[in-house]
Amino acid sequence: MSIMSRHERPTLVQAMIRGLRGRCPNCDRGSLYWKYLKVEPRCQVCGHDIAQYPADDGPAYFTILIVGHLLVAPLLFFPIIWQAPAAIMLPATLIPLAVATLVILPRVKGAFIGLLYALKVKASDAHLHTADMAD
Ligand SMILES: [Zn+2]
Repeated sequence: MSIMSRHERPTLVQAMIRGLRGRCPNCDRGSLYWKYLKVEPRCQVCGHDIAQYPADDGPAYFTILIVGHLLVAPLLFFPIIWQAPAAIMLPATLIPLAVATLVILPRVKGAFIGLLYALKVKASDAHLHTADMAD
């Protein structure tokens, strides 16, 4: 692994930006996904184990925060939303919001995986979080 030994570990922000762009947080050259939201088991370029980072529901929560609170909530302040017929307003707002969600989700998931990479949070560490509950 001469490639891995030569490059320096990215900062937290760099790792998140790499993930946001759909790139491997370790090398920034390999693809993060092999399908829409399916994370590559290993980076095709540097061989880093990308699947070890447990994104779980985190990206969905942050996507809901962005779409629901930052995009939908401001829309509710426009009177046309409440005055126009529902048959027109529902598709006119829900379709763009669905598209925005589908566009934002993989980017948020990538940034979240970059965050987990930078913080070295791995799925194999899950027992550390559940140990107290077993006692
Ligand atoms: Zn890589």
